[in-house]
Amino acid sequence: MDIPRIFTITESAHRIHNPFTSDKLACLGEALRLEPGTRVLDLGSGSGEMLCTWARDFGITGTGVDMSRLFSEQAKIRARELGVADRVEFIHDDACGYVAEKKAGLAACVGATWIGGGVAGTIELLSKSLLAGGMILIGEPYWRRLPPTQDVARKCHADSAADYLVLPQLLASFGELGYDVVEMVLADQAGWDRYEAAKWLTMRRWLEANPDDDFAEEVRAQLRSEPERYAAFTREYLGWGVFALMAR
Ligand code: SAH
Repeated sequence: MDIPRIFTITESAHRIHNPFTSDKLACLGEALRLEPGTRVLDLGSGSGEMLCTWARDFGITGTGVDMSRLFSEQAKIRARELGVADRVEFIHDDACGYVAEKKAGLAACVGATWIGGGVAGTIELLSKSLLAGGMILIGEPYWRRLPPTQDVARKCHADSAADYLVLPQLLASFGELGYDVVEMVLADQAGWDRYEAAKWLTMRRWLEANPDDDFAEEVRAQLRSEPERYAAFTREYLGWGVFALMAR
């Protein structure tokens, strides 16, 4: 079981697989006022940077579930590197339908809400693993500017403009699901640059090391087109943030 290979090529050197920088991740951890010992569940935990740094900085314990074999391995290595391997565990698995045996004080899905079939389904899934009074974290894109045409939406890698909301609508949608939005930290364009532009050097290096790979042509094509596509579309139109929710 694994995610499509193109992601494990382009994001193999990322510690954070979303437009947050390590500063933003730390800022979010502080904003949540996490008590030491809080149990955190993270569905789509990627390379584990959130759980590992929060275990180090705030004394949380955590479980991450991720379908990428590579990212799950990297997460375990990171936990050892930061000296928190006794406090965080990483499970390589499909997180669709995952409900934790021990309920968590904080249940997160940061940039992978397709796991629950969208934002509403993911909130419902996370709520099944949550202690009463616990907090849910959702990381999700929103439109900074509404795409004027469907073509522009697609160039932002959305299927259509309807895939995302503008920020006030996204915040209102959490209310409609019965949740208070109690905190949020938003990415910025510099963070998007770290997420997207970091892929370019990774692709270039990968091409040099794997010129005859079956994927080389696809990676070469992406490296040629991505900087311009990203600057014209994703960077201008798409925002991204993490939203902390508590049931009303
Ligand atoms: N939350 C992490 C990763 C976000 S990228 C971070 O912010 O760094 C999306 C992640 O979802 C990837 O790590 C990918 O491997 C994982 N993923 C995709 N589909 C999944 C599924 N069905 N179950 C578990 N993880 C999944």
